[in-house]
Amino acid sequence: MSWFASMLPNCLDYAKAAKAEGRPIVGITCEYTPRELIIAAGGIPVCLCGGSADTIPAAERELPANLCPLVKSTYGYHATKGNPFLEMADLLVVETTCDGKKKMYELMAESRPVHLLELPQRQEGSAALEQWVGELRALVAVLAEKLASSPSQDGIEGAIRAMNRERSLRRELAALMQSAVPPLTGRELLDCRSVISGVPMILEQYERTLEMLRAREARGETQSRVRVLMTGVPIVRGAERVVDIIEGAGGLVVCMENCTGLKPIIDDVAEDTSDPVQAIAEKYFALPCSVMTPNERRRTTLRQLAEEYRPQCVIELIWQACLTYDVESFFIRRLAEEELGIPYLRIETDYSPSDSARIETRVQALFETVRGRSVAQTRPG
Ligand code: SF4
Ligand code: SF4
Repeated sequence: MSWFASMLPNCLDYAKAAKAEGRPIVGITCEYTPRELIIAAGGIPVCLCGGSADTIPAAERELPANLCPLVKSTYGYHATKGNPFLEMADLLVVETTCDGKKKMYELMAESRPVHLLELPQRQEGSAALEQWVGELRALVAVLAEKLASSPSQDGIEGAIRAMNRERSLRRELAALMQSAVPPLTGRELLDCRSVISGVPMILEQYERTLEMLRAREARGETQSRVRVLMTGVPIVRGAERVVDIIEGAGGLVVCMENCTGLKPIIDDVAEDTSDPVQAIAEKYFALPCSVMTPNERRRTTLRQLAEEYRPQCVIELIWQACLTYDVESFFIRRLAEEELGIPYLRIETDYSPSDSARIETRVQALFETVRGRSVAQTRPG
């Protein structure tokens, strides 16, 4: 896992070497972006989402303060030129998701090459999927032009296999948390992620980490902790504070449903089809993000994950000003409390540590409720 501890410098070395060999760097900021098409065009897809509070003041000079910290942090890196991956990027591929991101991209496009995919926001019916397929076919043409390398059918198939392999390895890593005595913590699992995807170096690191963790002695102390399912917004590198608070207060995050957890890796892209772009479009379009309306599939996913990971409570993280996840929290609370029959806690915060003590108090109260219920359930009669 030491490779993942130095993941950013390791990925930076890889990106610099790839760039020196003439391979383009393509920045992405969302899990709807089909990395397979970028890889097939010879590019290196790199996630540019910002998790640092330090870049937010620079962002607020141009963006309204009441935007989500993820949007502001990402933009702050753009404004300060502080993200070397962004500075290296030959192209950014972005989507129409939430309003904050969408409008932020307009500002970035003033000085960087940005290609915007129009993401339909209703998943039912064939018309929306057809539109998304059309967007991806247009992306193939854009990549061919901007990266000077047209993705071939064989190249796309190869990239699908590489990304399916990566998703499968990450699912296997996550599934270690299904154990009553997992060999790692939720924070350790969260750290086993990379900003670059689908390249042999990363696949090898996931394989080695999985092998090491399978051989690792189960951690007895994880058994007495409260099992937590986290849902809500993505938790990008640098913004893990709430996970640390939860695990520091005696919890164990056994499952993360969000975009930095299982949500984008549950489904694979169908292999060896006659139309791989269609297959890619179908997988990505089914992602249950709160920008979709309605978003029933998120609840279906949560039911399935609750069965597999056996959480004792649900904690939902909402970045301040993230309206779509915030509104959807109504359904998630109802699902947890009325359907799954476990306590639910909604935490709304940003990247500043100023409310850490208050969050810790609320998490401790939640865990007392969980422990109180366990005692009541084990009491005879
Ligand atoms: S939460 Fe939604 S907008 Fe954010 S990365 Fe995931 S899919 Fe994209
Ligand atoms: S957390 Fe919410 S507001 Fe922030 S980028 Fe994601 S969807 Fe948009």
